Parts: sequence; structure tokens; C-alpha cells
Amino acid sequence: MTTNYKQQRWSLNALFPSHESPEFKTAMKELESEIGAFEKRRDDLDVEIEEGDFLEIVSELEEITVRSNRLYGYAGLWFTEDTQNQDAQALQARIEQYLVELQNKTLFFNIWWKKLDQTTADRLMAGAGDLKYWLEEMRHFTPHTLSEPEEKVINIKNVTGFSALITLYDSITNRYTFKVEVDGEEKDLTRGELMVYARHHDPKLRAAIYQELYRVYGDDGPILGQIYQTVVRDWANENIDLRNYHSPIAVRNLRNDVPDQAVDALLAVCEKNAPTFQRFFDLKARWLKTDQLRRYDIYAPVAQSDKTYDFQTGIEMVLDAFQNFDPRIADLAEKIIADEHVDSEVRKGKRGGAFCWSVDKSLSPWVLLNYQGTADSVATMAHELGHGIHALLAADHSAFTYHSSLPLAENASTFGEMLLIDRLLSQESDPAVRRDILFKQVDDAYATIMRQAFFALFERDAHQMIDEGATINDISQMYLENLTKQFGDAVSIGDEFRWEWVSIPHFYHTPFYVYAYAFGQLLVLSLYQRYQKEGDSFKPGYIKILESGGSQSPADILSKAEIDISSQAFWQGGFDVIDGMVKELEGLPIE
Ligand SMILES: [Zn+2]
Repeated sequence: MTTNYKQQRWSLNALFPSHESPEFKTAMKELESEIGAFEKRRDDLDVEIEEGDFLEIVSELEEITVRSNRLYGYAGLWFTEDTQNQDAQALQARIEQYLVELQNKTLFFNIWWKKLDQTTADRLMAGAGDLKYWLEEMRHFTPHTLSEPEEKVINIKNVTGFSALITLYDSITNRYTFKVEVDGEEKDLTRGELMVYARHHDPKLRAAIYQELYRVYGDDGPILGQIYQTVVRDWANENIDLRNYHSPIAVRNLRNDVPDQAVDALLAVCEKNAPTFQRFFDLKARWLKTDQLRRYDIYAPVAQSDKTYDFQTGIEMVLDAFQNFDPRIADLAEKIIADEHVDSEVRKGKRGGAFCWSVDKSLSPWVLLNYQGTADSVATMAHELGHGIHALLAADHSAFTYHSSLPLAENASTFGEMLLIDRLLSQESDPAVRRDILFKQVDDAYATIMRQAFFALFERDAHQMIDEGATINDISQMYLENLTKQFGDAVSIGDEFRWEWVSIPHFYHTPFYVYAYAFGQLLVLSLYQRYQKEGDSFKPGYIKILESGGSQSPADILSKAEIDISSQAFWQGGFDVIDGMVKELEGLPIE
């Protein structure tokens, strides 16, 4: 029996019929009274507290979280499906404000728990079951936490110090405009508008936009560089000198709860595999009929086919790819669709792109797509449904532990996408279509893995160099060397790229954040390679990983499938998948 699938708007009824419904108003009232009751628990929190009482308090907090998530989820989902709707805008803002106020009222639990002595904490955690990891994780920061007056001083000084500096960086760079000539017409563009032309077919225009981008950033290079030096010094002063972390990157590693050795292994393997992408860029140069690719051409379009898949075919391909892996996976995807939680239409005012939002573990997650029929659209559908399946598989955990943590967050999604791509390739004989699909895959892998890994390598070097007194010029020089290592002889790099590092907001806002992209994506490719090698025997272990959600540390979850993320051999497996795709591309005829 075949089901008919139509592109449609999602239904939010499982949350609330509308924001004016009695249900919505009751939920707001109940939340407030639950929080009022919770606040009275403050006095129960002392070292003598019974385990049972403690767990009761935690479950009250869980209920508060569930209710807040539903209200926030409803407001957020409604707004994304209809961003021009003023009622939706107003509700979103109102709920956000409301929840921040309420959250502040429950903060005392968190603070108390982090400061509690270890013996009492161990006693209380012993019977916490599924919540144990969540409780443990909060306390990871205890050894790096200062006394209350010290923390207060840091908070107060941050407002006018670190945070103010970041705001200043944003204020300076957000007002930049870029002048460029497009089709004989002089244009004044924002950075977002400018970078669209990185994918333009005209090589002159591609060069012009990068030159203009770094002309503008370079003009302020000395100031932006100085801000960066200060950010890095602040990071070291606070985290190394005061909080006793042993390296600048270790701060982020602890927040991601991944061992330092695992991140070191990941970055070392990325560095070693730079030649794989260099071969890809050589190939791209040949497709673009030029001797050597320029840095400007990295994202140049090479697509040749305009094959599309109607919505019915797209969904059937995705479900079929999932079915092949495990019928349970396909069933869960079908449940999300049958619950009408997929918004797949292209509509005016609807948010672009795609996402999956798991609001409540007892409900199917909501999936937003803008389905346009390209192979890419189908892959995105597999990706977002993969996220949804991940959440449903982990639904037996608590509201605090069913969401996977950042390093594992792209696991089911990218894996689902790989299953779909393999399914597409296995049934596609047109070399132009095969080539486009593979090019897109390696392009994405470059942007999410290699580029981000070399960013992290830059940060590691920059933090060290600034500690040793490096000038801005020294850092720019090091950045150019970093690019040379990344691209080898495959890509020529204009000197203006010496200013690229001052243009990356992540380096300022959240130092060392970028490696998480590489970590998440390469992890999945490495898992995929294990699947290709091991076949059916790989599946139960993999499903276990997904079922774990965020109930243990990433390393512990992965060890269930006998995966050691601190071993370079594991990460190399991911590059073997990319290498396979590049090899296949190398074997295809060039027109
Ligand atoms: Zn994703």
C-alpha cells in the first residue's frame, strides 16, 4: 500500500490549539504556580537532605522544564512558520522574557548543587539513575569555580570588559558595507549579500568580492587584531591563571565533555589528511578548466544536471533508505510525518533553510523544510528526519538527558543523509547527476570538517603565540602559513587572506567552538565507514548510541559500540569515506 504524501504546513495542535486557547493560558498559570512551589524548596536543600526528597525536587524541576519547553516551543515554531505575523512576533518576545524571569527563580538549585561537598553529592547521585550524568556534568566545573565574591567580581567586570569588547567588535564589523560591481552596476552590500557571489559563475566577480571583503577588514585589521589579542589574554588570565585549566582549549573540551586526547587526535588526523581535499581542489580546477584553483574558486559552482524529485518520490526515497538500514528507523520517520509535524511547503514569510526541533520527549519532533525537489532538498529531508528519529529513540530518558550533547548532535542526521546519498547513487546511472551529488558531499565535508579543523589549529597556535607576545603581523603571517598547509599547491592564496582571521566572529565570541563542527561530522563519517565494513553487525551498537541521547558522556556512549574517540585510527575512518568519494570523482569523465 502506498501512502500519498503532500507538501503541507505542520500542525502545532499537539502543543496548543492556539495562543489564545484556555489550554495555553492554563499552562502559563500552572508554570507560575509550579515555580512558586519550587522556590519554597530552597530551605530543603542542605547536606542532610534525604535522597528521596532530593530526587523529588529534581523531578519538580524537570516538570517545570517540560512545561516551559512546550510554551517556548509553541511560540518559536509558530514564529518560524510565519515570521511576518505580528501576533507570532509578539508572542515569541513575550514568552522569551517571561521564561528568563522564571528561570532566574530556579537558579538557586543549580548553584547549590555545584557547590555541594563531594561526599553528599555522591550519596545523592547514587540513586539518581538516568539523571546521574546530568547531575555529574553540572559538577564538572566545581574544581574551576571560584568563591562567590570572586565569581561576582568576574561577572560584574565582564559586563564592561570581555562582553563589552565583543559587543564593540560586533558593532564595528556589523556596520561594514562592501562595494562591488555586478553586471556593470555598482552595489553596496552587507557581508551576507556579498558572500552569495562566492558561488557565482563569474571568476572575476568571485575574486572581486574576496578582495573587497578583506580590503574592508584589513583597513581595520590593526584594531580588530588588537581586540583579538585582548580576548585571548582575557581567556588565559581567567581560565589558566585563576581557574586552573591546563590549556586554553581544555576549557572548551570540558564544556563539550570530550577528553583533550580525543580533540588532539581529531585535529592531528585532519592535518594529516589535508592532501585528500587538495586532490579534490585539483579536480575542481580541471572541471573549471583552469590550471590551478584560486582561493576565490573554492565554492565555484560545477553543477551540470538540474534533475529534480517530486515530493512523493523524495519522501519515498528517504523512507526506503531508512527501511534498508532498519525498519524501526523508517517507522519513526513515518510517525513524524503522520503526526503532521513536518512543514515542507515553500511559503512567503516562512523561515528559510531547515531544522528539527524536539520540544517534548513524549511528542514527535517538529521538522521544518523548504522542499524544492533538488537532490539537496531530499538529502536535507533525510538529515532533519534523522534528527527527529534520534530524539524519538532517546525518549525514555529524562527531559534533561534525552537531547544529545553537542558533539553527538549531528549523529543520526548526517548518518541518515549518508544512507540517502548511497541510495541515490546506487540507483543513478547518469554520470552528471552522480558527479553533482558527490561534488556537493565533498564540498560540504570541506566546509564543515577541514576548514573548521584548520580554524581550530589556528586558534591553538594564536593563543600560544599571543601568550608569548606575538604582534598582529606575526599572527597574520602564521595564518597564511596555516592556509598553505591546508591547501598545499592545489590552491593559490591572495595576500589579502592574511586578514581572514579577524573576520571570523567565532574566534572572538566562543574560542575553540569551531572544532565541534569537525568533530560531529567526521565522527559520523567514521561511524559510516564502520557500517560499510561491518554491515548488519554494526546496527545494534549504532542504535544503542542513538538511544543513549545525552544520558552519558560522548566518550562513554560511543564506547558502547566499541569506539575509542581518542584513537587516530577511528578518525581516519572518516577520511577514508571522503577519500572514496574523491576517488570516484577522479574516475568520472571530464567534459
Ligand atoms: Zn543537523
